[in-house]
Amino acid sequence: MKWGQNFDGQRSGMDHLGIFIGICAVFFWVLGAYLWQPLIWAGWVLIMLTYVRSFSKNKLRRHQENIRFLKYWYPVQSNLTNRFRKYRAKREHRHFKCKECRQKLRVPRKLRRVQVTCPKCRETFVKESLQGKILRMMKR
Ligand SMILES: [Zn+2]
Repeated sequence: MKWGQNFDGQRSGMDHLGIFIGICAVFFWVLGAYLWQPLIWAGWVLIMLTYVRSFSKNKLRRHQENIRFLKYWYPVQSNLTNRFRKYRAKREHRHFKCKECRQKLRVPRKLRRVQVTCPKCRETFVKESLQGKILRMMKR
């Protein structure tokens, strides 16, 4: 039987809240192993809670709990994905401002040496990454 599978359709099974509590339990075990041992017991209590919930026959109640949990969880989740997207954008592009008009510009990081033309004021200048500078110095 797969983890969280509904074997007779009567049980609540695993939902978002159940998965979240399960992840918390693993987190507690890791903390317990390194910091403070009683947390391992707290982890077991949480695992028991996910079992009790997933084998519970009171589906409506468990569903309501899950909805209440998601109300708090979705804002956290979208915040995290936004942060991740921003981080990725930062990693792939170098951001800087035009020396003439302060227009915000970006160039892909993999280009070591690139001539940039500002789209606003048509000023052109050369941007070179640290990596590009080092390579140029080594060639001399
Ligand atoms: Zn400009």
